[in-house]
Amino acid sequence: MAYVYDFTQGNKDQKDLLGGKGANLAEMTNLGLPVPPGFTISTDACRAFLAAGTEPDGLEEEVDAQLRALEARMGRRLGDAADPLLVSVRSGAKFSMPGMMETVLNVGLNDESVVGLATRNGDERFATDSYRRLLQMFGSTVLGVDSEAFGDRLDELKAARGVASDAELTAEDLRGLVEDFKVIIREHTGADFPQDPREQLRRAIRSVFESWNTPRAALYRRQERIPDDLGTAVNVQAMVFGNRGETSGSGVCFTRDPATGEPGVYGDYLPNAQGEDVVAGIRNTIPLAELARLDRASYDSLLAIMEQLERHYLDMCDIEFTIEEGRLWMLQTRVGKRTAEAAVRIACEMVAEDYIDRDDALLRVSGHQLIALMFPRFAPDPDRHPVATGMNASPGAAVGRAVLDTETAVAWAERGEAVILVRKETNPDDLAGMLAAQGVLTSRGGKTSHAAVVARGMGRTCVCGAEAIEIDLVNRRFQVRGGPVVEEGDMISIDGTTGEVFLGAVPVSDPDVVRRLEGEEVDDPVAVSVARLLGHADGIRRLGVRANADTPEDARRARRFGAEGIGLCRTEHMFLGERRHLIERLIVADDEAERQEALEKLEPLQRQDFGEILEAMDGLPVTVRLIDPPLHEFLPDLTDLEVRVALEDERHEEDRRDHVLLEHVRRLHEHNPMLGLRGVRLGIVIPGLFHMQARAIASAMADRIEAGGDPRPEIMVPLVVHERELTLVRGELEKVIGEVSADRGLDLHIPIGTMIELPRAALLADRIAATADFFSFGTNDLTQTVWGFSRDDVEAAFLPAYRDRGVFPVSPFESIDVDGVGKLVEIGSRLGRETKPGLHVGVCGEHGGDPESIRFFAEAGIDYVSCSPFRVPVARWEAARAVLARD
Ligand code: PEP
Ligand code: MG
Repeated sequence: MAYVYDFTQGNKDQKDLLGGKGANLAEMTNLGLPVPPGFTISTDACRAFLAAGTEPDGLEEEVDAQLRALEARMGRRLGDAADPLLVSVRSGAKFSMPGMMETVLNVGLNDESVVGLATRNGDERFATDSYRRLLQMFGSTVLGVDSEAFGDRLDELKAARGVASDAELTAEDLRGLVEDFKVIIREHTGADFPQDPREQLRRAIRSVFESWNTPRAALYRRQERIPDDLGTAVNVQAMVFGNRGETSGSGVCFTRDPATGEPGVYGDYLPNAQGEDVVAGIRNTIPLAELARLDRASYDSLLAIMEQLERHYLDMCDIEFTIEEGRLWMLQTRVGKRTAEAAVRIACEMVAEDYIDRDDALLRVSGHQLIALMFPRFAPDPDRHPVATGMNASPGAAVGRAVLDTETAVAWAERGEAVILVRKETNPDDLAGMLAAQGVLTSRGGKTSHAAVVARGMGRTCVCGAEAIEIDLVNRRFQVRGGPVVEEGDMISIDGTTGEVFLGAVPVSDPDVVRRLEGEEVDDPVAVSVARLLGHADGIRRLGVRANADTPEDARRARRFGAEGIGLCRTEHMFLGERRHLIERLIVADDEAERQEALEKLEPLQRQDFGEILEAMDGLPVTVRLIDPPLHEFLPDLTDLEVRVALEDERHEEDRRDHVLLEHVRRLHEHNPMLGLRGVRLGIVIPGLFHMQARAIASAMADRIEAGGDPRPEIMVPLVVHERELTLVRGELEKVIGEVSADRGLDLHIPIGTMIELPRAALLADRIAATADFFSFGTNDLTQTVWGFSRDDVEAAFLPAYRDRGVFPVSPFESIDVDGVGKLVEIGSRLGRETKPGLHVGVCGEHGGDPESIRFFAEAGIDYVSCSPFRVPVARWEAARAVLARD
């Protein structure tokens, strides 16, 4: 098996085998660019090494053969005493992991060859500087000596000589430093620095392999969702030297600005330095443009190469180069990482420049980048430090006065104050407060907690589970553990992208993209480009996109964002304030008359709710889901009520109402409300509840028709697990719709479908489909029940540990678990369509707004996803990308 490839043997498409750096070095070599010769040890070799814990058979011989060829070509031998060849040994994985793995430069130097290098170049200072760099890099990366031991010694020496930069140290200073570094190595490892160049090379290669598994590399992969089993390639390349005096230097540059996408030449240059110095920021670099003054010829060649590379790669390139005594060398290129803004701008400008077409442009900007563009952000500031950190539940930047309950949030917002709602956790009653607030901060609960789901739905910034925050409602303030006390009314800022909490008002920047996508006239070129590309995406995608919305404002906003209907209108959010009381009475009612009274009061209110939403979505489907609250969210807290009753007893109060309520609350108390009396179960157990909602929906539809509208409601039944449940409910609903039709003299057609959100329902979807006009997968509950993870508690409880231990890279509540939950979605839709060919199937869990999940749903043949209004453009975007990526 071949493990080692000369640069002339590869090309840019071989990243799997050669890693990104190796593949691109080969590509540049074959383009005839000035690349120092070398070879790449493949990722196969790394994987074999990591599996066996030792170099695979034959690797050593192959490296030897390639090294001999390299020596022959360069006319020098590795570590030769008179005229040494020196090599760099660098990592390079398929996906770039900047700075995460090891690099060793100047391999081949030892006590003898350093003299040869000095003599050949007539430059002792340069040779000694190169040697001390090898000792430093080899010592810290290969031998595991704490790099600070070397850094501290260097700093001491600079201080003793009164110089600011290592470039000002003399040859003699550096000779002393070499000896000091050797002592440090001996003291830390109990052995001398290996003088044998071949041993240096072997150990450097091995340490690059091993660096694949350092904790920081593993952590980076988890963050970036890079698989753990790829391994890295190793590039061994003849050294060129940027540290050979003032006509030498090293630099990094980009063919366009990676922050803004602006065309032009961006880069940093450091005279008389090796590449590592530029990246590590050891000395202050100068702007690349100044190179034109220092070395016009090299600058011009570099610009020509940059242009050539951009034309070749048809993308923005990120380049590392070295100039050795006026001669330019290319050390690396790759398609450069960029901000979301830059991604859009570069993609669109490259369309205008005829480099790529619009399909390519769409493929180059991910749904995640679009999400990033849609949330306001804090202007960056390295001096700003958080007082607490929680989970980044809903991105964005929010600034306002801390308020500790919903009433205060609403009252202060009404008088024009920006507020941040700070709660231990939230319940449906807090919705008004959340709506009124700029953002939500909780000290408990995870990313799928109520606060987080609702906040994302509303595009509200949310940080949840900031455990250092202790709320003191009595004194109206909160204490940050080990930190300051924040009084209600103090300004705070929360960053939903990082989970950070700051004191005071941090300045935010406005998202023009959102304003443009909502139809406002905005000049910002990125916003205009996003809107244009989104229009293009609509022409490509086959997946429909609806919104989850339960207020007319959300419905209108969703429509402005391009929603093709509402896929989930959660009706439990409509029972707040006074209405919550009615539902409570309904649940605990002792007699039929009392229940009827509550229902009669609720119906007109619901009718108005539905009427307004149908109006906002006129001509488009509106899937109204019948009420689905976990019961505890509508009943008073058991402990609070017990305390209240005890106090009333103490005061000998006559009113028995709380006693009765307490009995009911005790009776209905559930240990596991998420698996309790909710959804269709509630409809079956509480007579008249679904009936009332259906009547309100049908009446609202009739009202709209009479007003000349085009209402298209659909009714969806939640938490169905057995076909009989749906048959029972459907009979009741059809009866009501029939009655309203007859009363109003209209033929009201309202499809009745079901959520598929329990494993049994998915597995027996063929039976359920017989009674359902459509399916919608509730992937939140489906994930909860497939994994057996409580969606409210899992994030805080053990999810981080599971992520750290590699059970999954990302929470299954965030991105669909394709293997498990995804399989059930596929099974459920296939079985459903076996019974009813053409059955319309949607997805309305949080996953409907997650880019990776959207791709999966598009490929699984789902008809539409329904997501929060702010994710509607993302779903439109990603659905088109799914088609393009497959074609
Ligand atoms: C779901 O379970 O995925 C769903 C959409 O319903 P809810 O989140 O309201 O339980
Ligand atoms: Mg559900």
